[in-house]
Amino acid sequence: MSLNKTGDVQGSVAKVFRMRQEGEKCYRERALKLFSKICAHCGREFSGKRLRELTVHHKDHNRDNNPPDGSNWELLCIYCHENEHTRDQVADAYATGSDDESPENSFGHNLFVELADLMKKKKKLDE
Ligand SMILES: [Zn+2]
Ligand SMILES: [Zn+2]
Repeated sequence: MSLNKTGDVQGSVAKVFRMRQEGEKCYRERALKLFSKICAHCGREFSGKRLRELTVHHKDHNRDNNPPDGSNWELLCIYCHENEHTRDQVADAYATGSDDESPENSFGHNLFVELADLMKKKKKLDE
C-alpha cells in the first residue's frame, strides 16, 4: 500500500493518524476502567504487563465514535482484534472503489502498524 500519492493526502493522513493515536490513548484508558480486562472474543483475562495486548475495538468500526458510556467499545486482545479487522479488510477489498481518497482508506493500515508496534514493544520488554 502506498500513501505517497500526493503530499496533500499524505499530510492529512498523518494528521488524522496522530489525532487518532492521541485519541486512542485516552479512550483506551477509559475503556479499561469501564470494562473488565477480558477479551470479549476469547475470554482471556489480562493484567499487569500483558494488559498491553488488550485493545479497544469499535463496534461500528468508526474510531471517531467514542461515546463516554463506552457503548461503541469492545475490549479485544490483539489477536482477536486482528482477526476482526482482517475480515473487514477482505470485505473492504470487494466493497470499496477508488472514489474515496479519505483517511478512512488507511484505517486498516494504521491498525496493523499499531499492532506491529505493539508486538515489537512486547518482544523488547519481555526479553
Ligand atoms: Zn481474544
Ligand atoms: Zn477494531
